[in-house]
Amino acid sequence: MLQIQNINKEYKTGELVQKALDQVTVGFRDSEFVAVLGPSGSGKTTLLNIIGGLDRYDSGDIKINGTSTKKYKDRDWDSYRNYSIGFVFQSYNLIPHQSILANVELSLTIAGMSRKQRRDKAKRALEEVGLLDQRHKKPNQMSGGQMQRVAIARALVNDPDILLADEPTGALDSETSVQVLELLKKVASNRLVIMVTHNEQLAGSYATRTIKLLDGKITADSDPYELTDKEPVSAKQSKLAKVSMSFFSSISLSFNNLWTKKGRTILTAFASSIGIIGIT
Ligand code: ADP
Ligand code: MG
Repeated sequence: MLQIQNINKEYKTGELVQKALDQVTVGFRDSEFVAVLGPSGSGKTTLLNIIGGLDRYDSGDIKINGTSTKKYKDRDWDSYRNYSIGFVFQSYNLIPHQSILANVELSLTIAGMSRKQRRDKAKRALEEVGLLDQRHKKPNQMSGGQMQRVAIARALVNDPDILLADEPTGALDSETSVQVLELLKKVASNRLVIMVTHNEQLAGSYATRTIKLLDGKITADSDPYELTDKEPVSAKQSKLAKVSMSFFSSISLSFNNLWTKKGRTILTAFASSIGIIGIT
């Protein structure tokens, strides 16, 4: 379903060129719990960000249900990220002044949904992580483990095919880590979960597969998966094809897009006004 082929990624900062990923090839099943292990700086976050479309690869290819992403435009990556991927970070990244329910609801990107439908979907996600009764709390009224479960609910609310978690238990004690891993294991029963972790022991007891990275290369894979060209494309087709955006959602996404590229937008506006003043 998800095939990573000969991916290379370098970061250039001034004179320094850092190879973060070096010819990485790996295939993932539609539903499995993969733990990515490796020392700090080995490329784990880079791999996760590239799989999730947060960062671009230099060369190689990522195939989603057999379809190459080589020709993907920013817009294609945006919808891939919005509809197929859920992210969970070590630092939870919840909005502090919003309720738990609002935090989950706000990340709903599926268009054409009524207010009530959105609320119901967010409630269902919170129920799945066992926190429905806590929905009116603010993040700072919860424990670290609870906040991470909220973050998982938020990542699941769009029902993504793939959940990516970068050291989700990195800030948690061992007892709470176990709860989060139990939850991720449950989540992985019907989707692909890829989790970066430092904890080899926990990875061994919860993940169904472990992959080791060193200096941007895969050095071990406990249960490799190679998709042959002849194999039929999975029944669970990518959601990209099905997505049709409502007018208002596409407008709000465009504004978001303008905002993320605010530097460019401001410069363009500035340059145009100089032009107009010049002509006048
Ligand atoms: P890990 O998550 O395994 O600790 P990373 O994927 O974050 O490793 O980093 C891999 C390598 O790439 C490291 O050497 C790191 O310094 C470098 N790197 C990661 N992100 C950037 C960036 N945005 N700019 C420059 N170098 C980076
Ligand atoms: Mg990292």
